[in-house]
Amino acid sequence: MKTFRNFIAGQWTAPSTGEYFDNVNPADTSDVIGRFPLSGEADVQRAVESAARGFERWRHTPAPERGDILRRVGDLIVQRKEEIADAMTREMGKPLTETRGDVQEGIDTAYYAATEGRRLFGHTVPSEMRQKWAMSFRRPIGICGIITPFNFPLAIPTWKMFPALLCGNACIFKPAEDVPHTGTLFVEILLDAGLPPEVIQLVHGIGETVGKAIVEHPEIPVVSFTGSTETGRIVGETCGRMHKRLSLEMGGKNAQIVLDDADVDLAMEGVLWGAFGTTGQRCTATSRLILQDGIHDDFLSQLVDRARSLRLGDGRKKDTDVGPLISEAAREKVERYIDLGQADGADLLCGGRRPEGREYEKGHFFEPTIFARVDAGMRIEQEEIFGPVLSVVRVRTPDEAFRINNGVKYGLSSSIYTRDVTIAFRALNELDNGITYVNAPTIGAEAHLPFGGVKQTGNGHREGGWEVYEFYSETKVGYLDFSGRLQRAQIDNYPGTPD
Ligand code: ADP
Repeated sequence: MKTFRNFIAGQWTAPSTGEYFDNVNPADTSDVIGRFPLSGEADVQRAVESAARGFERWRHTPAPERGDILRRVGDLIVQRKEEIADAMTREMGKPLTETRGDVQEGIDTAYYAATEGRRLFGHTVPSEMRQKWAMSFRRPIGICGIITPFNFPLAIPTWKMFPALLCGNACIFKPAEDVPHTGTLFVEILLDAGLPPEVIQLVHGIGETVGKAIVEHPEIPVVSFTGSTETGRIVGETCGRMHKRLSLEMGGKNAQIVLDDADVDLAMEGVLWGAFGTTGQRCTATSRLILQDGIHDDFLSQLVDRARSLRLGDGRKKDTDVGPLISEAAREKVERYIDLGQADGADLLCGGRRPEGREYEKGHFFEPTIFARVDAGMRIEQEEIFGPVLSVVRVRTPDEAFRINNGVKYGLSSSIYTRDVTIAFRALNELDNGITYVNAPTIGAEAHLPFGGVKQTGNGHREGGWEVYEFYSETKVGYLDFSGRLQRAQIDNYPGTPD
């Protein structure tokens, strides 16, 4: 079995602890991908010392040159797309069609970042004084701690690290312990593309040790975290106490609304993809379906038939629709919610159990599940399950649908199917989410638009698009006074001041 290493101080190195963990395939737990380092605090410390040297060099590399390296990174990911997609499916389970999409997102993010190297705009604005210039420009910040989850093993690290690197920062990367192989391939590619070695550090290990050490390290001023709400709270408390710049992206309880006038076939495809794609393990997954009275019964019965016909299996097999959950703990969590939903009086229409059959015995599979007669306020309607479980709520009016959409603590994405342009625009205005889709499912963000949510989904920052570059850089203002005399801001420029 292959033993993998960290990448610290410009070298592939064994962890200081001498300990490793097995990375297994969630579709077949007898398939061990390799042994990965269970690193300790000392590894993080070495990574920080090296990254500080890397940062000193990288910050002075012109941004267009940094962009050129990221363009080469994009080219190399294109070349290795199939290999990465296969490795990703093997270690986290989603079907190859989806992991190819994950890799494509990384490619798109690389090319977008590459061009940003020739922008990174500041502003030049008129000064309130004569013979004086005023302008702002962007500077790198330092070492960024990058902590990522299992569900988008390539895309999410690229969303964070490409802008961080483009802005001139160094990165310490801790991938989720479920997907260390994709993280390793990614770092290999960064190095092959010519990134100076000390600019990137890869430290494998568990969140409570390596992640915590990164978050608590005083020389890491920037932390970007995507993961569960519980962990995000711990990370947020520490960063708040230490005055760190922090981007949090956490849970969702996303709803698809289907109104009576909708194109129901389109809405059907949307909800199947939104609810059961990635086995429901997306922060943008559709976990609530809000159906208007008039279409409710027909839509639901068709949906149940379609959900029952989804093929569960190994994501590396050609006709698999839905892969396994990431772990046994994830499956047990989903099962607890099945019990809760039934105890609260919701109707379990399909799924709700582990599939039977030899091909499922060694994986964490779970059947696509639909609960009907779900009331707003039930726990299955309020809490993120992160599995293939859809709760269906019946409403009479669009206003009721909007209220229910907004009645949760999360606010990542929402979707509405309607042909009424007035209602569509009202939805954009009134749904409390970072993203609203009209006539499209709750999943499917594009790399060049800001991604993130409101309320307890995040802390106000966005990933992707143009906004993320603000997060990874510091704004500096420069004033140049060429008047040759003392001009006093806020004193000399009130109306009526003589020249
Ligand atoms: P998920 O349930 O999606 O795996 P987690 O929040 O458990 O979400 O994990 C997301 C990332 O956060 C992983 O890389 C994990 O190792 C890391 N992590 C877990 N606990 C901590 C912690 N206390 N401090 C920092 N990072 C952590």
